[in-house]
Amino acid sequence: MSSDKHPHHHDVEEIDCLEAIDNLYAYLDGELTDDETLARFRKHLDHCKSCYSRSELEGVINERIKESGKGKTPDTLKDRICDFLDDL
Ligand SMILES: [Zn+2]
Repeated sequence: MSSDKHPHHHDVEEIDCLEAIDNLYAYLDGELTDDETLARFRKHLDHCKSCYSRSELEGVINERIKESGKGKTPDTLKDRICDFLDDL
């Protein structure tokens, strides 16, 4: 071990939090289909606790929104989404 650098052996490229969050929304929308982007995104979540927590949270919200199509969304959340849409 003479080098102080950490060579990446064909490892996936690192992304920053901003890019991870950007990817997160695409991921939740099922639009993150590129293997390399997906790998980078997952790798970031592996070592970034804040993005991991965020992905968990957004995942739950996303599930709720999907369920709203099945009429299972709690009224409070439905109201909040309506308020949000009204503001657009
Ligand atoms: Zn992050």
